[in-house]
Amino acid sequence: MDIHIIQGGNELLNSFSDDASIKARKYLENLGVNVITGVRVNNYDGNEISLSDGRKLYTKKVIWAAGITGRRFEGLPESCYTSDNRLKTDTYNLVTGLKDVYALGDAAYMEETEYKGHPQVAQPAIQQARLLSNNLNGLLKGKPMKPFHYKDLGSLATIGRNKAVADLPYLKTQGFFAWLLWLFVHLKSILGVKNKIFVFFNWVWSYFTMDQSLRIMIRHKTRMNNE
Ligand SMILES: Cc1cc2nc3c(=O)[nH]c(=O)nc-3n(C[C@H](O)[C@H](O)[C@H](O)COP(=O)(O)OP(=O)(O)OC[C@H]3O[C@@H](n4cnc5c(N)ncnc54)[C@H](O)[C@@H]3O)c2cc1C
Repeated sequence: MDIHIIQGGNELLNSFSDDASIKARKYLENLGVNVITGVRVNNYDGNEISLSDGRKLYTKKVIWAAGITGRRFEGLPESCYTSDNRLKTDTYNLVTGLKDVYALGDAAYMEETEYKGHPQVAQPAIQQARLLSNNLNGLLKGKPMKPFHYKDLGSLATIGRNKAVADLPYLKTQGFFAWLLWLFVHLKSILGVKNKIFVFFNWVWSYFTMDQSLRIMIRHKTRMNNE
């Protein structure tokens, strides 16, 4: 099996440091992945992928991971939306031009300090949700709302066994230590002690046995009655 990653930008993980994105590419190439950067996918007809540089790849399997766009709701004015359908908000997560309508996380587009829209990852969503719930509770007690400032806790990405990249505020590292950090951070975010222990032992088991606990069943597509 050949695996190709096609990335429109000139580097992988472009929100990470240069060292991290160079290392991520090297790790993938060492695993036998063909990384193609600076090229966009123009078309796929079920058999053939056409690339913007004229190349063609032949495949039955394509995994599309080219980002997300928001969803529009009926009734909200056009002026509330950005071009990728995020809802423009002020620094209190209040949708611009509306009263009592708030948006947060991936769906929200907020400009504050150096951020022109926060990265669509979990931390802005968590931090905005926490502040907004405090602000709304505070409003009931007559307290003024506090504006949002994103606290960047850093970024981690795992590439494979023993391989990850980590860009933290005071530490940039790649390789085994970054991979351990990735495991620790993700284990910490799993809810409940029982789940943490279960996942931990599952990982240890998979690491030594090379056995994936994930089982995918593939079968012929059956038609639904209403199709
Ligand atoms: C494959 C993948 C991997 C990711 N990996 C990472 C990662 O490693 N680290 C990281 O930080 N971020 C990661 N992200 C991004 C992260 O998941 C999002 O940034 C984060 O979940 C945003 O939180 P949110 O609350 O804004 O939206 P979501 O978590 O998407 O929650 C929105 C919820 O609204 C529901 N919903 C949608 N429409 C309606 C409707 N009309 N009515 C009612 N409910 C509705 C949805 O079902 C969903 O439950 C990943 C995302 C994907 C897709």
